[in-house]
This record gives sequence, structure tokens and C-alpha cells, in this order.
Amino acid sequence: MAEECECKFSPISINEIEPGLFLSSASAARDFETLNNKNISHILSVDTCPLPRYILEMGCITTMFIKATDMPGEDLLSYFDDTYTFITNALEKGGKVIIHCYYGVSRSATIIIAYVMKKYKISYEEAFDRVKAKRSIISPNQGFISQLKIYQIMKYIINKSDMKYKLYRLTMAAEWMRKLNILPQNFRDLIQTDPGLPQSQPDPNVYRCRKCRRVLACKNNLISHPCTQIYFLEPLAWMNCAQTPQGKLYCPNCKSKVGSFSWVMGCECPCGDRVAPAFYLVPSKVDFCNVVKNIEVSF
Ligand SMILES: [Zn+2]
Ligand SMILES: [Zn+2]
Repeated sequence: MAEECECKFSPISINEIEPGLFLSSASAARDFETLNNKNISHILSVDTCPLPRYILEMGCITTMFIKATDMPGEDLLSYFDDTYTFITNALEKGGKVIIHCYYGVSRSATIIIAYVMKKYKISYEEAFDRVKAKRSIISPNQGFISQLKIYQIMKYIINKSDMKYKLYRLTMAAEWMRKLNILPQNFRDLIQTDPGLPQSQPDPNVYRCRKCRRVLACKNNLISHPCTQIYFLEPLAWMNCAQTPQGKLYCPNCKSKVGSFSWVMGCECPCGDRVAPAFYLVPSKVDFCNVVKNIEVSF
């Protein structure tokens, strides 16, 4: 991907999708005549480069910039709530908003479709048709379509503790792991705190090491899976899995082997399902306990 900004070569094209809300190419968003004619007050750029200084320094236009390429692995989902707020605030003040990427076909269309979905509480398909009726060339890439469908399942709100959202981000993180062999900083929040450490509100349902009884996971860490032959978990701090793509999991207390993890290859469960990335405990190495019923006294 070229780092150079190539935006000035895209043709000027702009369409009003909702009253006061426009979808355009990059060239339209940097064209004084277009901005004046449409009375634009807000510009949301979803592009590899921000708008040029002469636009940013006009003073009368509020801007928001999301650095993103038009690749299926690019995360736009995480911005949907923020972009919705940006658009809503602008329109409520009587402003006129442009959302643009390079051609106004995939990235910016995705942001507008998310907005329309949330505003009218409608499905991806309905929102797509609505936007396409106003701008026929829109075509979000496959990755963005999946993200819009996850947004719909999450009822148009980003909930960071929603397991579907976590699984989506784990898949993204696995892509980075494949490229870099290390988990980038902005995905480190996916690694959950160690449930074996003292908690203010401990989950009473836990999985303990069969050998030494240390808590290895709680029920909330479990990823839903059709069988119980393997316990698939979200990544946990004691696993030390941020620096390496795959490895064995050892109980942090007694060091016995309790499972494995693999960001890229994942794991084929005996039930036939392939899970990737996979962080899992072998049921023969752990015991499920409800600590409320099994109060332990240490001497
Ligand atoms: Zn142990
Ligand atoms: Zn299975």
C-alpha cells in the first residue's frame, strides 16, 4: 500500500443520502466550490491521509479523521458509535456533513450504512438499499459487510464486553499476530485479567487446576462452543500469549500442562469444529467448581 496521498486524483462525485448528509469522493471534500455550494460544516474522512491543511485550517469546518485502508481486515466497526455521534451532533445543530473516503464507494459507504442502520434500527440489507438508492456506486468490501452485520447483531451499540465483539477483535488480532508474531498494543485489552488473582467481585463458577487447585478460568471466560471435549477460553493474562503465536499452557502455580493456544492455526476440536484463534484447557486437567458451595480454608 502506497503511503503517498493519491486523493487528488479521484473524480468529484457527491450524493445527498439523508437531508444534510452527503457521501462523496475525496476530491469533493477538498473542493471549495463543492463545500460552499452545499454549505458543508462537518467533514468525516475515512482515508489513508487526512484532508490537506488548507481545508483543515479554514476554521469553519469541523473535521474527524479515521485512518483506514479499504482492506477487509481494517476495523471500522469500533468507530461506528463515534461516527454516529459525530453525524448526529452535526445535523442537530443544523450542520451539513460530508463523509468521504477515496472514491466514496466502500469505506465511507460503510460508515453511512452503519449510521442509517442505527438511526432507523434496520438491518444491513435495508440500510444498504437505502444508501444505494441515493448513490448507486456504493460497494462495501466483504470485511466491512461482516462488521455491519455484527453491529446489527449487537443492536447498533459497541459493547466491549459482548463476546461477539471480542471474538471479532480476536480474529483481527490473529491477523496481526500472523504478520508480526506479536500482539499490537491496541489489542492488548483483549487479554483478560487473571481470574486466579484476588478479585473484588469474583465469579463463583471457576475452573481449577486439577493438580494444585489454582483458579485458571472463570465461566465468563468461556467461549460458547457446541461440545465440552475442550474448554475454549478468551486469552487470559497468565497464558503469556501476547508475545508468541502458539504454545502450551502451563498452570502458573504448579507448572503442569493444562492446555494450549494458537493464534493463527487455531485448534480442531474432536467434535470437528475448527476454532481460531484458540486458547483452551483440556477437561482432564481441570475441575469445574462453584466456590460458594466449596469454600476452601487454607492453613
Ligand atoms: Zn496447578
Ligand atoms: Zn468441540
